[in-house]
Amino acid sequence: ELAGRMAERAVDVVKFFMKQGQILKPGDVIDADTAELVAAEFGHTVRRVAESDIEEGLFDIADRPEDMLPRPPVVTIMGHVDHGKTSLLDAIRNANVVSGEAGGITQHIGAYQVEKNGQKITFIDTPGHAAFTAMRARGAQVTDIAILVVAADDSVMPQTIESISHAKAAGVPIIVAINKIDKPSADPQKVRTQLLQHEVFVESMGGDVLEVEVSATKGTNLDKLLEAVLLQAEVLDLQANPNRTAEGAIIEAKLDKGRGPVATALVQTGTLLVGDIVVAGNEWGRVRALVTDRGDHIKEALPSTPVEILGLQGTPQAGDRFAVVHDEARAREITEYRQRKARDKAAAKHAGQRGSLEHMMSQLQSSGLKEFPLVIKGDVQGSVEAIVAALDKLGTDEVRARIVHAGAGGITESDISLAETSGAVVIGFNVRANPQARQAAEAAGIDIRYYSIIYSLVDDIKDAMSGLLSPER
Ligand code: GDP
Repeated sequence: ELAGRMAERAVDVVKFFMKQGQILKPGDVIDADTAELVAAEFGHTVRRVAESDIEEGLFDIADRPEDMLPRPPVVTIMGHVDHGKTSLLDAIRNANVVSGEAGGITQHIGAYQVEKNGQKITFIDTPGHAAFTAMRARGAQVTDIAILVVAADDSVMPQTIESISHAKAAGVPIIVAINKIDKPSADPQKVRTQLLQHEVFVESMGGDVLEVEVSATKGTNLDKLLEAVLLQAEVLDLQANPNRTAEGAIIEAKLDKGRGPVATALVQTGTLLVGDIVVAGNEWGRVRALVTDRGDHIKEALPSTPVEILGLQGTPQAGDRFAVVHDEARAREITEYRQRKARDKAAAKHAGQRGSLEHMMSQLQSSGLKEFPLVIKGDVQGSVEAIVAALDKLGTDEVRARIVHAGAGGITESDISLAETSGAVVIGFNVRANPQARQAAEAAGIDIRYYSIIYSLVDDIKDAMSGLLSPER
């Protein structure tokens, strides 16, 4: 490897060592000082780099404003179970196939694209906020717009509220789709009023959140919903530079018997080409083929295009970011570094306690940030409200609690991933975490605190917060 980096023949390096009386076999390791001496002997200048420099420049290459072009919006559908997320995704897809690609067999690759008024819209095919936040926890922010589905024959439910919290935490604008308006028992007005209580102010109530009454099964107003998406996208002024190497996120990945590792990537900037060398999470590979959700093989994928990548050496994870690099050596260097880091992290996992009160205090103190992020779950809505009110009162000019999410019900995996992305501690009041949530919390090093007396809960938080107050001078 040293020979390679100096662009010298390996045999010359081995000979040099022999002259010094040292016999080396390929794969033997020499220390950095020796390497530096050898490099100097061969007439090379050495630049020492830190481990963290290995990934430098991989992401976020600066673009010039004049190179930026509009790109399609990426949409995620969220909402309570049975309110019609899947039905809506299916209905939109069936009604709006990208023109010119008719006849292709639709396949589930994790995202699809439709066309409306000559403009493309990308939909993430996994509904719900859990997947959305799990991806965010891994570093990928792919969603531009969240469609919040609420069934008009039901009401705002726990997962509706969770979806609102998750979208807000990500800073993603919401469009409300009031679904099932074909039902005789539908009461859209009730939904609007309930949403007010969760600080979602729809247009017809004087707010600025776009809303559309739809029926997924009857296909009513799907056009209007897509128009609302395009309108919101225009406001967001979404842009990317297509004339550069691609970057983006992995949405799904699997090991296919016939095709090997297959990863669905969402290109977020640049253009991904067949033949590109891609680094995705801990894996890399040369793009052998790009396949769309219509099963078409394409040569290049533009920004906001979801596409299957064939040719990776292994399966990355959903939420991993990907980037194109110039040569295989760099791809190897980065992925080896990451695999090493992943192993180290796994070893250190039990020591790490990202979401513990103590760790959070020192984090916040060193960052100078005076907010105390919390995810609060309680047995009944009444007690949750009482806790939130009590914590609000604790706030001073210097420090205050920031409630990332508060709701009734047990602690779920989705609460943990929300805590992970927002650096929050999870609090359970007369509720427990389910096994999946406990596992996720342990894996992520998130602290879950259980209480059954509001007074002691508030006291603990007060103590933690007073540790945050700047010492008197
Ligand atoms: P999800 O859990 O949010 O993905 O909800 P689904 O899409 O699975 O829908 C739940 C149920 O509601 C299914 O039985 C659907 O057929 C039904 N459903 C969904 N949308 C509508 C609608 O617009 N009108 C009526 N009447 N039923 C709907």
